[in-house]
Formats: sequence, structure tokens, C-alpha cells
Amino acid sequence: MKKICVLGSTGSIGVNTLQVIDEFPGEFEVVGLTVNNNITLLEKQIEKYHPKMVVVRDSRKARDLKKKMGNRCEVLTGDEGLIEITKNLDYDILLSSLVGFAGLSPTIEGIKRNKRIALANKETLVAAGQIIEQLMKKHDAEIIPVDSEHSAIFQCLVGEKNDEILKLILTASGGPFLSKSLDEFNKITVEQALAHPNWKMGNKITIDSATMMNKGLEVIEAHWLFNLPPEKIDVIVHPQSIIHSFVEFIDGSIKAQLSLPDMKLPIQYALSYPHRFDSNFVETKLHEIQNLSFQQPDLNKFRCLQLAYDALDLGGNAACALNAANEIAVNNFLERKISFDRIPDLIEEALNKAEHVSDPDLETIFETDRQTRLLVQNILN
Ligand code: MG
Repeated sequence: MKKICVLGSTGSIGVNTLQVIDEFPGEFEVVGLTVNNNITLLEKQIEKYHPKMVVVRDSRKARDLKKKMGNRCEVLTGDEGLIEITKNLDYDILLSSLVGFAGLSPTIEGIKRNKRIALANKETLVAAGQIIEQLMKKHDAEIIPVDSEHSAIFQCLVGEKNDEILKLILTASGGPFLSKSLDEFNKITVEQALAHPNWKMGNKITIDSATMMNKGLEVIEAHWLFNLPPEKIDVIVHPQSIIHSFVEFIDGSIKAQLSLPDMKLPIQYALSYPHRFDSNFVETKLHEIQNLSFQQPDLNKFRCLQLAYDALDLGGNAACALNAANEIAVNNFLERKISFDRIPDLIEEALNKAEHVSDPDLETIFETDRQTRLLVQNILN
């Protein structure tokens, strides 16, 4: 049985992961779970899976849970707890699905221990891609992407040679505002932005999908995962979200991976790879879908996507600054403190003002993250 530690077990990816695990009794054992503060759901998960260790980031809620659990399971708290569980618990696969920059340090602990990382936390690669790449080489660890686009590319590349790739083509749904005109962007409400047409996801990634920053982050993620320059990574809008991405090869041949959109599929692949397990989470009837359409992304309307390419071109700590600025901007939008169209303005201003370091070490990455958050908050105050 493969032992699995799920970082972010009450989030959308975490809950889907546990459903995948339920489907294969005898294959997987849940040994660790972590949550921010949803202990109601965590308690149910503990009851069902009997993990050895859990982390509740909120210290007061962790104390409450600790009292209830007694010695049934070890309860840790805070960022230190996330480090301890990834550093000391006995597991084979680390399902990394924390939201945002918070996922970086615990993911690094898993890499250092040469574990399989099923990576759903794209911000780890966005903020510290270069460092993660070096650590992966040093520790011979394995990252299997959970992000649907990167899982698609990963699947298309099985048996292929890197130098025979012409380009990767990431598909984007275009989000809820694909056909909205730019001059209406300042009136977009939180509710409208949270209503994604195809995918049901957490709030942060849903807003990122509405601005198309999610695709920008995915371009950067693909750059590090597949070791290809930005000019070989394209984005195409595909509103049906059936084709999860393409790879075009030097002979003109294009491979794609298709299915109805369901995160359980890429999650299952990241757990079962190099095998495929028999399951029926999705059944894709192409004759019912009939139409697959494609269009170029509008970079004037979705400036966040362009800003991500800009950050990748700048290199160094620029993508870390981009990510931090985006996290603060999205939070402020969700708290109804700024309008939707200010999100790219804030990110652009932060990218221009953040101190550039071309070859950052991990300490510089943490400092860039901290400083950029302050910078954006100061612009807003
Ligand atoms: Mg994705």
C-alpha cells in the first residue's frame, strides 16, 4: 500500500483526492492530513482514514482538536506543523495542494526526502522554479503534475524525446468573461467572477481563471516542469475544456489528451503513474459534445496572462513577485476592496517596483514574497 500525505485535505483537490483513494481500497493508505481551519470536515476525515498525524494551521482550532483527539492521532499546528509533517511522517506520496506560496516550504521537504510529489500547488514552481529544479536534480525526486493541463502534457510526453517537441499548447477555458467587453471589467462582481463555466474549484484559483492569471501561472509552471523556453509554450482558448492541452512535435504531429473536465482524473494519474487504474469517474461521449472550438487569447483584455510571460522573460525573482502581488490583489478583490480590473494594474506596478534579483536563493525568494506583499498592501493603503 502506498502511504499518502494530503496537504490541504479539505480543499477542492484534497476532497477529490480522498474520493480517488476511496475507489481503490488496498492501494493507498492515508497517513497525514492538513487543513487551514475546517476542523469539522477534518474530524470526519480522521474518523474515516485514521491518519497518524494531522496539521491544523489555525492554532486555536488545533488546540481544540488536540483535546478531542487525545492520543488517537498527533495534532500539529502552524507553518512549523506543515514542515514537521512533511519532514518526519512516513509517506510515499506527498499530495501538495495548499493554496498559494504557503505550499513552497512543505513541498521542498518532500523533495528533499526523495518522495513522489503529486503537485497541485502551481505557486511552488512559479515562485521558486529554479530552486525546485536544482533540488529535484540533487535529490532525484519525482514531480507528477496534478494540474489538468500539465497532466495532459505529461501524458502526451510519455515515450517522447524533449528535443523533438516543437511546442506545448496549454488550453484555457477563457473563464466567465471570455465574451465580456473590457470596458465592463470594472463592474465585475465577486459572485460573477466566482461562477466558472466548467470547473468547480477553490476561490483563489477561480478568480485566477477569471483574470486568466491562472493560465499565466501555468505557463511558468510548464516552463519548469518540462524544461522548455517561454517561446515554446503557447496558450489557446478552448471554451469546452475537453482537450486539456496539446503537444506539437517537430514533424508537425500534435498529441492531445481529452476527457470531460474532472480533477479526479489527473489526481488518479499522479497517484497511479506509471500505471493506469480502472475507474469510471468520467465517461466522455464525444458525439454528445460535438463541437470543440479554439481561439487566440486576447492579451489586451486578459493582461495578467501577458504579465506572466513578462515575468518569465525577466527571470530571477520576477515570477515570485508576480505571484505575491497576485495573491494580495485577489484577496483584496475577494474582500471587495478593489475592482476586478485593478488586479492587473497592481501586479504590473509591483513587477515594476520590486527589486530584481537574477539568481535568487531560497532566502531571497522568501524576502521577495514578503516585500512584494507589503509593497502591494502599501499601494492600496
Ligand atoms: Mg489548470
